[in-house]
Amino acid sequence: MHFSRFFWFLLFTFIILQSCKSSEEFSGYSYDPEGVTNTVDKEIQSPYSRTIGIKGDGIWISNEFEGARMSDFYRVSDSLYRAVIEPENHPVNNSPWYSFKMHSDSPATVNLQLFYKHGKHRYRPKLSRDGKQWKRIDSSDIRADTSGTAILTLDLNENPLWISAQELLTYQDMVAWMDSIGTATRTRLDTVGYSHQQRPVIKMTIGSASPDRNQGVLVITGRQHPPEVTGGLASRAFIEALAADTELAKNFRKEFEIWAYPLVNPDGVAGGHWRHNGAGIDLNRDWENFNQPETRAIRDDLLPIDDRPERRVYYGIDFHSTKSNIFYPIKQDISTFPEDFTYRWIETLQEHFPETPFNVEPFDTNSPIAKNWIYHAFGADAVTYEVDDRADRQKLKEVTLQAAHVIMRHLLEEKRKRQ
Ligand SMILES: [Zn+2]
Repeated sequence: MHFSRFFWFLLFTFIILQSCKSSEEFSGYSYDPEGVTNTVDKEIQSPYSRTIGIKGDGIWISNEFEGARMSDFYRVSDSLYRAVIEPENHPVNNSPWYSFKMHSDSPATVNLQLFYKHGKHRYRPKLSRDGKQWKRIDSSDIRADTSGTAILTLDLNENPLWISAQELLTYQDMVAWMDSIGTATRTRLDTVGYSHQQRPVIKMTIGSASPDRNQGVLVITGRQHPPEVTGGLASRAFIEALAADTELAKNFRKEFEIWAYPLVNPDGVAGGHWRHNGAGIDLNRDWENFNQPETRAIRDDLLPIDDRPERRVYYGIDFHSTKSNIFYPIKQDISTFPEDFTYRWIETLQEHFPETPFNVEPFDTNSPIAKNWIYHAFGADAVTYEVDDRADRQKLKEVTLQAAHVIMRHLLEEKRKRQ
């Protein structure tokens, strides 16, 4: 071989090896802690469930409800109390969930510091007097400082005031919601496995064609990350639109079956975790090694689709929340079935809401996340659907409803093309 050609050959080989190496060694996104892809069980700690307070001041705090998180409480000075918020284990992503309630023996205005261990303030508190109706704290009643804590001014009385990173959308809320959909439409609920703490991993199957008829499958996952409430709300609105009594949804359900797992991390949601499951693991980094029972249960439920000629996975959606509305589709140069579905879906959705920004950030398929596993297992297109943490909740529902309508129309078209 001529020397210069040999040189180019070596260089080319080197580049190829480097790029393979980088894809094989995915070790986490920029916001992930070190070691995130090691998904073997870790120790977690749960705060003592209790109501504590400063008796002399008559100020009380409680984490005795599902989804609560507050580890400790004390008085720092005459004018300041502190609630200590700790994650289930660390290192952990900075999504510091907190939820607790307070009351005082007699009406009092107090300053409360949210003091995080292993994290910095992120979620602007929602307040509630009944645990059901929520509003964001007034901006004049919160001061975040550069050290990563925040000080809230709260009006307390003998009735409880809930203070929470986001409104509560608890494990029980999600199960009750699944039951209600199950009763109202032709939805089947199955337990496909159990979490570490023996909570069911529930699957909703929505569809109305006979089992032997050719059908597409739409896979939906959600709530892998407990604090991501807006993603949870969106997944519910989305599934409701697919299960609704509209002409479009009825037609859709004749051609497609929906396999939805909207509560992938029941232990994390029930325990008020920042990110992880009952074994201290980020489930959305376990879709390659499948060390965790929740991801394994869903994988084992879905994989047999490949052996059924009358079923074909067309699309997967994994619902999350972050600081903006972002869709993470699969890069366009990677061939999927259907081709570039996400891009066409979002383009149509954006036309419906020109004033709402939807960011689209394509990614390769190297990381061990749910969306990529759908692609690797079935060749199907899939997306990570991230909803803004601060989204107006009414708008969120409108957008999601439209997103579901567009997806149903587009998927029906895709299927028609193949008949
Ligand atoms: Zn997430």
